[in-house]
Amino acid sequence: MPSGSLRDYHRKRDFKLTAEPKGAVAKRKTATGKASKLRYLIQKHDATRLHYDFRLEWNGTLMSWAVPKGPSENPDDKRLAVHVEDHPLDYGNFEGTIPKGQYGGGTVMLWDTGTWAPHDADVDAAIKKGKLGFTLYGKRLHGNWALVRLRKRSPKDKDNWLLIKEHDEFERKDGKLTTERETSSVKSGRAMDEIAAGKSVWHSNSADGKPPPAKKPPAKKAAAGGSKKKTR
Ligand code: MN
Repeated sequence: MPSGSLRDYHRKRDFKLTAEPKGAVAKRKTATGKASKLRYLIQKHDATRLHYDFRLEWNGTLMSWAVPKGPSENPDDKRLAVHVEDHPLDYGNFEGTIPKGQYGGGTVMLWDTGTWAPHDADVDAAIKKGKLGFTLYGKRLHGNWALVRLRKRSPKDKDNWLLIKEHDEFERKDGKLTTERETSSVKSGRAMDEIAAGKSVWHSNSADGKPPPAKKPPAKKAAAGGSKKKTR
């Protein structure tokens, strides 16, 4: 599947049931260079298994990899990153719950956000070749990283890559990783259980398109489902 298509994304979801954005391929094609910044983000996703969804804007969508153990700033750690379907750019603002039984059912937290810059002039060629180097300018992750595709051992294998920190001043060989130190939303400050409890659930397709009110005091928990509104 070439990057820049949302066919798989749409096929896997029932937008009558999930609040995830339907989205569309953005018109703005992004060329390498500094004219326009490319979005980078990570969503922590407590689904069947907890993982971190690593997303890089390219060709009007978000190229996406599911990283079971999350990113590590230790260059010795090579983290499995399963290449999954492109997501719409709108998805980068999504935080909330996906109904049980739906694709990816569970809780989604926006864990990091920022921009990225590819090291290769031709990103499509780098992806095809299976090695993409880049710099992250996130709120939590920084510096140089690489995604490297693993050879398939059987046709049934998934499109497995490794996410690797490259050596620079942002590497971290001891102490806690950022995934261990930072466990709340970079967007709302909420913990996973607070998002799961449905506090300030927002629908990305709400009429005004505005994000939810950020940072409610963590002490008060809304009664589950109490304030949920159906928008459709
Ligand atoms: Mn996911």
